[in-house]
Amino acid sequence: MPTQASDDAFAEVKARVDLVKVVSEHVRLTRRNKDFWGLCPFHQEDSPSFKVNPQMQSWYCFGCERSGDVFTFVELIEKTDKRGALQMLAERAGVELKKLSPEQRERVDVRKRVLDMLKLAAQYYEYVLWKTPAGEPGRRLLESRRVSEETARRFQLGYAPAGRGFAEYLRAKKRSLSDAQEAGLMRRDGSDFFAERLVIPIRDERGQTLAFTARTVRQDEQRKYINSPETPAYIKGRVIFGLDLARDEIARRGHGVLMEGQFDVITGHQFGVSNAVASSGTALTEEQVRLLKRFTDELLLVFDSDRAGRTAMRKAVTLASTFGMRTRVASLPDAKDPDEFLRAAGPDAAQRWEELVSRAPSGFEAGMEEDSAGLNPSNPNQVELVAGRLREWIRQFPEGLREGYAEAAAAARCQARGVRSRANQIDSSGVGARRPVHLRPYAGELRAPWRVRARGRFGRLSPGGTGPDQTSVGGSAAEC
Ligand SMILES: [Zn+2]
Repeated sequence: MPTQASDDAFAEVKARVDLVKVVSEHVRLTRRNKDFWGLCPFHQEDSPSFKVNPQMQSWYCFGCERSGDVFTFVELIEKTDKRGALQMLAERAGVELKKLSPEQRERVDVRKRVLDMLKLAAQYYEYVLWKTPAGEPGRRLLESRRVSEETARRFQLGYAPAGRGFAEYLRAKKRSLSDAQEAGLMRRDGSDFFAERLVIPIRDERGQTLAFTARTVRQDEQRKYINSPETPAYIKGRVIFGLDLARDEIARRGHGVLMEGQFDVITGHQFGVSNAVASSGTALTEEQVRLLKRFTDELLLVFDSDRAGRTAMRKAVTLASTFGMRTRVASLPDAKDPDEFLRAAGPDAAQRWEELVSRAPSGFEAGMEEDSAGLNPSNPNQVELVAGRLREWIRQFPEGLREGYAEAAAAARCQARGVRSRANQIDSSGVGARRPVHLRPYAGELRAPWRVRARGRFGRLSPGGTGPDQTSVGGSAAEC
């Protein structure tokens, strides 16, 4: 039996769609002889080098040398994958991808019903929030967080009233209650799963609601946030919150900002950080990194400053690196999360954010600094302990990065020792200067001027590279 993603499905869809038509929705094409030409949508150019061959139903760009058929075109232009392209084109061509086994068919049907139900629920919650007296607690919460209606509507925030409002609404609409249960929206007793909560739709990169996360408006509620259970439409760890709204800005700015909380992202967008997204409901997963990689090669991580946040940050740094993504880490002065930081900055938020971004060290640097926090450079045991921790961390990076990182770590260690001997030998009036130690650049990091900066934790550093302070360290000087 051919299945949804089989060659048959591709062939059938391909036979029904016209590449020229699909391309011309994105590119202005001009006919020249039997081919069509236009400006390539995948690289910057002033004169057309993008060619579509209607006979072959293929395209080729003489500028960037990309090429393919209608599926690859949609994949690239919609930033989706092969299956996503198939689905989009099948819908467009009216091809039902139905040559599925009965079980597969059933799963597809359930998923579709669940998605419809989630869409309906999002509309209902949004309506309650803005148009009914019952939405008052939700409106108050947003006000206290200074989230504007415009921002709230962009994220389609809503409010689930107390009791069985949603069930009554479904009855009035003659909709199935069991679908709502399947979608994780109702409990068995008919009560609303998210009752008395501000609901935040979790949407995929195309804006389709897959689940909700919901924040209580009650002071006495222990569980501040609850999330949709996994359903046929929602698998945890596969969605990036805010990506549908951030994707264009991520492409424009060349990096995405990865935050921890949904509210951080919402506040971020309100204050102009519209390339902000969050890994939803879990620590960052491989699938999420792969998804982000479709839109950018660079992530700015802005995690909470608590211990859990720091651990999550380190994991994200190494995980992203295994997919060839660069990371930087922004730390928030005097704020526990981006939400707090941006709201405190108020009208200066955009500027303060830019400062933060420009100061952000690379992910490796940030981890190295963290390891050396509180280190006493004149205590050899401590120095060795930190070195060991760093070696362990470096092992978690892809092989191509390890050597450069090890050198950077060694350089930083040497500098720390330099400080010690300097303190021993030279009087304290010496004015030190921070001296950046450049990482050996590797292909992936060439674009960004990231540097290893030895910070205050290593003490103030001597401006000279190999002054007497460093050569006098004795035995260990050899590796410096
Ligand atoms: Zn091109």
